[in-house]
Amino acid sequence: MRAAAVIPILALLSIGPADMCWSRQTAKVAPRLDAAPKPHASRVALKCDPSKFRIILDVGHTRESEGATSARNIPEFDFNLQLAKRIEEKLRSEGFAETRLLVTGGKARPSLFTRVAAAKSAKADFFLSIHHDSVPDSMLENWVFEGTKSYFSDRFTGYGVFVSHRNADFTDSMAFAHLVGMQMKAEGLPFAVQYTQPIMGRYRHPLLDKDAGVYGYDDLVVLMKAAMPAVLLEAGSIINRDEELQLSSMERQDIIGTAVSTAMKEFCDAHRSP
Ligand SMILES: [Zn+2]
Repeated sequence: MRAAAVIPILALLSIGPADMCWSRQTAKVAPRLDAAPKPHASRVALKCDPSKFRIILDVGHTRESEGATSARNIPEFDFNLQLAKRIEEKLRSEGFAETRLLVTGGKARPSLFTRVAAAKSAKADFFLSIHHDSVPDSMLENWVFEGTKSYFSDRFTGYGVFVSHRNADFTDSMAFAHLVGMQMKAEGLPFAVQYTQPIMGRYRHPLLDKDAGVYGYDDLVVLMKAAMPAVLLEAGSIINRDEELQLSSMERQDIIGTAVSTAMKEFCDAHRSP
């Protein structure tokens, strides 16, 4: 089995860098806001023929380690899976027939390396990770939803797009991140502005593209270790009570799916095979 050969490598890699999640017990590594590392040397120029372009849609978190919990106590993993399926449909309808959902099992941290290894063995051309946002525990407020003590924060709203300078192809990662952020913006969706604010403490990130809402997150494992262009989309905040309802709706999922597929089409058009 291919997986058996991968395990020792994963064990070696599983120290250090930060994860992208808000699970309440997870210790975080402070992001680097200064001195962004240089991107790796550029590889062979990326070419795109939609029918052959292999897109991995990475469903953030796992059933065993479900990420954030929404204001109404729904696991982030469920939101990620539902939205990723919708995005997959939209990409396929745009002709990206080689789009694949990547659903990973197991504990949070090892799963990050499993994702990267799976994308590499699939010879993926592009890695897009789908997540939903929350807030640091210190911002959570109490409320009761359907008789259960629950947590929310209506303070922040909006999507966020994340890239790593340490990715093997930062230039193309950034190009797609810009396009998808601009599509989200064109749909009237705001981006999450709080990541530059001091109140976010160790969760702060540099805003690389203030029009499209693209942040740098250099040490994020799936972005840093992916062997192909990689982008992480936080679709919106599920700890915000209004936004959670919007993100649950077919309408919003369609809008985001169309934003992603339109952006990918634009990206692909700019990287057409001759
Ligand atoms: Zn997440």
